[in-house]
Amino acid sequence: MRRVDEARRKRIFLSSPHMGGSELEFVREAFETNWIAPAGPHIAAFEREFCERIGITHAVALSSGTAALHLALRVLGVQAGEDIFCSTLTFAACANAIVYERARPVFIDSDEASWNMDPSLLEEALARRARRNKLPRAVVGVDLYGQAADWDAIRAACRRFDVPIIEDAAEALGATYRGRSTGTFGWANVFSFNGNKIITTSGGGLLATEDAKLAEQARHLSQQARDEAAHYQHSKIGFNYRMSNVLAGIGRGQLRVLNDRIEARRRNFAHYEKEFQGLAGLRFMPEASYGRSTRWLTCLLVDPEEFGADREEIRLHLERQNIESRPVWKPLHLQPVFADCDKEGGQVAEGLFQTGLCLPSGSNLTEDDLARVTEAFLSVPRRWRAR
Ligand SMILES: *Cc1c(COP(=O)(O)O)cnc(C)c1O
Repeated sequence: MRRVDEARRKRIFLSSPHMGGSELEFVREAFETNWIAPAGPHIAAFEREFCERIGITHAVALSSGTAALHLALRVLGVQAGEDIFCSTLTFAACANAIVYERARPVFIDSDEASWNMDPSLLEEALARRARRNKLPRAVVGVDLYGQAADWDAIRAACRRFDVPIIEDAAEALGATYRGRSTGTFGWANVFSFNGNKIITTSGGGLLATEDAKLAEQARHLSQQARDEAAHYQHSKIGFNYRMSNVLAGIGRGQLRVLNDRIEARRRNFAHYEKEFQGLAGLRFMPEASYGRSTRWLTCLLVDPEEFGADREEIRLHLERQNIESRPVWKPLHLQPVFADCDKEGGQVAEGLFQTGLCLPSGSNLTEDDLARVTEAFLSVPRRWRAR
């Protein structure tokens, strides 16, 4: 009994770091060679191994995914006041980076099939703006919760109007779209190794691209834009965005277990789906037929009329048992800070936010943890519909 009570007190997190076996060895190597710096052999090795894993030519390891977004926009040469299309159902970092450059995010709604940017809505918006000669400078498309957006359709629309794509694959490392890795569909592709992502370096990010010039300029800007000179010469404003060699060591270890992490997260999803299959009013995030999701987070929609409790009642019930869950992202067009930005649609994302819940999804959840979450979920007090 004691043991069970103790287990009940342990907090179950939404998505917590999960080290493999070799990270500490790489970190030790960094210490032993004294490369405790934003330079050193692990960085180049991590970049090379990352490129091999996803199938792309250039990678620049950075301090965060947000830094990667920012550098992509900076290298593109985005000007103040220019419009950038951006998925509305995502984390604020996407739009923040746009605002760093004093450009203006325009939010695009999701589709029901993937929860990602709706390609038809995008195409219509581009066509309408082309007629007014007001095309956006770029499109930032996100791969949400481990699932690829519909890249063939998004790329066709963007190609038609010659608008570059920044793919934000921060949540979807290891996912595929028609057999090809996410984070290879944009002119610039963004990854994050923040503590809650599928693999982590505690904090970190990466910009991947086929464009050698983009990689070279991003690398230059990430190191304070130092020109080739012994005396610290600068002809541009730079940033301090390079990844540390110590953290790149962690990243090398994490890359080696990425496949295991994907399978574990997919197993979590399958577990919840199986345990909840008899319950009315629940719909899990669909897996679009074009690809394989990593199920970074297990998300489901709750119809309060049918289920007998709403998303928030479930969340609070889990919280009382020390289990962390979260609403689906609040769409950026509903965020106070972006209230005066333009948008295309928005109702789909609003519906997903109102009824969507993300369950504990870490690859290190034990069977006991999963059983605890399931039991807590099944014990949510439900008001049955009046008959
Ligand atoms: C986590 C995340 C980011 C930001 O990455 P950081 O490394 O935390 O800066 C950007 N976009 C999306 C979609 C994310 O989930």
